[in-house]
Amino acid sequence: MSFPLHSPAWFQDFRRRITRWYDANRRSLPWRETHDPYAIWISEAMLQQTQVATVIDYYHRFLERFPDVASLAAADEQAVLQQWAGLGYYRRARQLHAAAKQMVEQGNGEFPRRLEEIQQLPGIGRYTAGAIASFAYDARAPIVEANTLRLFSRLLALREPPQRSAAQRQLWAFAEQLLPPRRGSGRLNQACMELGSLLCAPQRPACTACPVQSLCPAFAAGIETEIPVAQPKPATSAIGHVAVVIRHRGRLLMRQNPPGEWWHGLWDFPRSSLETSPELLRALTASEAANAESLEAIRWLIEQSHGLACQPVRRLCMLKHSVTRYRISLFCFEATVASSSLKKMTGRWTWVEDPPQLPLTSPAQQLLRRLGD
Ligand code: SF4
Repeated sequence: MSFPLHSPAWFQDFRRRITRWYDANRRSLPWRETHDPYAIWISEAMLQQTQVATVIDYYHRFLERFPDVASLAAADEQAVLQQWAGLGYYRRARQLHAAAKQMVEQGNGEFPRRLEEIQQLPGIGRYTAGAIASFAYDARAPIVEANTLRLFSRLLALREPPQRSAAQRQLWAFAEQLLPPRRGSGRLNQACMELGSLLCAPQRPACTACPVQSLCPAFAAGIETEIPVAQPKPATSAIGHVAVVIRHRGRLLMRQNPPGEWWHGLWDFPRSSLETSPELLRALTASEAANAESLEAIRWLIEQSHGLACQPVRRLCMLKHSVTRYRISLFCFEATVASSSLKKMTGRWTWVEDPPQLPLTSPAQQLLRRLGD
């Protein structure tokens, strides 16, 4: 793919300017002080969807508990999820665990060196594979992630949403062409990410401080704040759920979410969707005081969803949270449980001390905090 706005001299000048700026301005981050592919992989998984400042403590704690592929592979999934609790997007933790097991089963726990092999591990896409290969081994592997996507879109003066497939092809080809012909790809990739993060910001890019301002077509055309062009967002949907807090002899009843449900593997209060009960949703939204009819409808719903015979007795609170495109109102009730139901509480059910020493969903953590207020 050719880039008519960019000559070979442009690429050379860009590399020189950005790496010089990076050497003088780079933040000192723990995962930048290592070439260990395992540690870099853990940091990359954590940094997806999570801020750098939040990740640092988690990164140190995770590596202390699971210092290498073998220790992660040998761990119980619940222990891995527990170490991840609070970072959200638990699928990432499950995939790390699955990939570590695969490395032990197929490669004696050695982290693969080749880009194609890295990309075959569960949960590792093109960006993460490129980051690990270039940062750990200085492989000539391009990367496009949130920060570089924005930077490259502006350097290309891209006038279409960068998520589109033609734009993606262009961005990846550009990322590859930016890399130096021989050594230094890891440093160049880090420099682009850092410039995207620190200067080429989404709303107000700091163009006056930018080392590549004179090379930037978006700045020259005065369109830097119009790029990246926004992709039309899918419509969000407002939905309702109910959850019941059941205490028995000082302990709480929790349920582990099975495969196919949100937060698979994490523990939550018994919870049901109000999708099939629009009248109940309307009643709970309209009034904070639940009447006998609403309490009966919730009892029926929980029994239908989980086979759990409980008796909701009073409303505790309403929490709001989002999952993907859903904005969820979670109506929380205190309930008692029929003793005949207790013996059925096996498998995915457990009674736990308060606070529970289990990996919990974020709404369950939110509800526990509310109960403690
Ligand atoms: Fe980004 Fe501005 Fe630098 Fe262009 S000049 S790369 S828009 S910060």
